[in-house]
Amino acid sequence: MTDDTPRDFIRQIIHDDLESGKHDQIVTRFPPEPNGYLHVGHVMSICLNFGVTEETGGQTYLRFDDTNPGKEDVEYVQAIEEDVRWLGFDWGQRLTHASDYFERIYAAAEQLVERGLAYVDSLSAEEIREYRGTLTEPGKNSPYRERSVEENLDLLRRMRAGEFADGEQVLRAKIDMASPNINLRDPALYRVRHVAHQATGDQWCIYPMYDFAHTMSDAFEGITHSLCTLEFEDHRPLYNWFLDQLQPQHRPRQIEFSRLNLAYTLTSKRKLNALVAENIVSGWNDPRMPTIAGMRRRGYPASALRDFVTRAGVTKKDKLIEMGMLENSVRESLGDTAMRRMAVLRPLKVILSNYPEGQVEMMTAMNHPNDPDMGTRDVPFTRELWIEQDDFMEEAPRKFFRLKPGGEVRLRSAYIIQCDEVIKDEQGNVVELHCSYDPDTRSGTGSSDRKVKGTIHWVSAAQAVDAEVRLYDRLFTAVNPNKADDFRTVLNPDSLVTANAKLEPALAELAPGTPVQFERLGYFCVDTQDDAASARVFNRIVTLRDSWAKLERQALESENQAGTSPSRK
Ligand code: ATP
Ligand code: MG
Repeated sequence: MTDDTPRDFIRQIIHDDLESGKHDQIVTRFPPEPNGYLHVGHVMSICLNFGVTEETGGQTYLRFDDTNPGKEDVEYVQAIEEDVRWLGFDWGQRLTHASDYFERIYAAAEQLVERGLAYVDSLSAEEIREYRGTLTEPGKNSPYRERSVEENLDLLRRMRAGEFADGEQVLRAKIDMASPNINLRDPALYRVRHVAHQATGDQWCIYPMYDFAHTMSDAFEGITHSLCTLEFEDHRPLYNWFLDQLQPQHRPRQIEFSRLNLAYTLTSKRKLNALVAENIVSGWNDPRMPTIAGMRRRGYPASALRDFVTRAGVTKKDKLIEMGMLENSVRESLGDTAMRRMAVLRPLKVILSNYPEGQVEMMTAMNHPNDPDMGTRDVPFTRELWIEQDDFMEEAPRKFFRLKPGGEVRLRSAYIIQCDEVIKDEQGNVVELHCSYDPDTRSGTGSSDRKVKGTIHWVSAAQAVDAEVRLYDRLFTAVNPNKADDFRTVLNPDSLVTANAKLEPALAELAPGTPVQFERLGYFCVDTQDDAASARVFNRIVTLRDSWAKLERQALESENQAGTSPSRK
């Protein structure tokens, strides 16, 4: 495989269409419905649609599919624009709305009526459902199917003029009520809805159905490749029927790919909406949410998300992808760039009995162990320190190379200390360690090359900065919460654990959103929420190692083998 071999079947098609001269330039669109925030699945669609044109010098539209007034909101429109831009893509002048084309879509509908290819049906919604048939039985023709062109045109215009109530009339394509493909059984094109629209206000009381609006918008914009998810495969014959009948100047080609589904995650806007509405999470941008806004606030870099979807690839096969893969992309993207700092999440006091009271030594610590160019910082060292509770064990097994009674450990960038005495409270909890330091072992001075097995992190008590640290984990305990009867029953009760941490002073100046590595603990950033920033809240972006890896791989294997891919909504 050479470097310019297209990396997936869609890029192959695009490559071939450019080679053969079928198209001089590729035009795609990302068409979200502004009824919720974008999630990790959308990242894939965005990277695909904008990616293929970035790679070939084409153009991509950001088109809001706003055909469902009432469910849509400007908050979502703004969030979507921000999210796409943050991912690193630019639509230039090509920001459009399905509603921009309402007049032209309507004209196309009249054209279908005039050519006897569409009719106004006066059956009720329930009757239409009954007449439609089932997967095994053909449907039957509506008694209104043979209305004359004149009557249909008149009724359609009166629908538009507001003479009918919601549901009283519906414009349908006249295709085939016996088609094995239910989408071709005279699908609805326009319905009456007396609802104001966020962009067109009260101008319309009829709205085009998604399939019709979407096909026509693609054609009007000269989209060459209309890339969508597999659930639209059965709609493709309808998409092509519109194009065949109306013969627009540009004929887009619809190509389907499989949805990106992430283990332990939901990617349905409806369910994500429920998480927000029911206050199960703090909002669309809760750092546990698989939304772009949530992942950004959590501290995931945009480059990590792009890298992740590239690795996940574009395929036709439905499958669940490991959360560990996304987290690995995050770790990789932070590993070389995030500065190292020390923080203690569950503090245990250490007193160095042979260290002078009141003395402060400035220790020099590297900002990155592998990159001297990232410089150093000073870390104060004093008689009273905090270490991690976990780094001390009273009854330690032989292989425990951290601190134990009588044992020695190195404090990162400082001295070797030895534990002399364990102080306990009345309940027998360890509350303090009395230790002694070896003055000949100061890091970087070379005065002694004495080595000990373990190195732990620490923070000087007098200069420590207090902070709330939010330790985020998977939101669900089930590998495929989509399949649970009720996703509320598989929530992870420990998806958010908070710790009152002690930080080294350099962390007080960290700008919100900037990722750092807390040594030995993971990657963290100051939360970007205003109130949180003033209170100094840190989010855990990701741990250093994948503690779920084994569990997740096993669960996924059986999940993907059973062919129980998540429902296609
Ligand atoms: P949801 O099911 O979450 O409501 P949707 O398909 O209704 O998603 P849209 O706003 O219509 O959301 O999606 C915009 C585009 O993103 C569509 O082209 C859709 O196919 C694509 N998309 C949505 N979810 C995924 C996913 N999980 N993986 C890949 N592409 C997706
Ligand atoms: Mg959709």
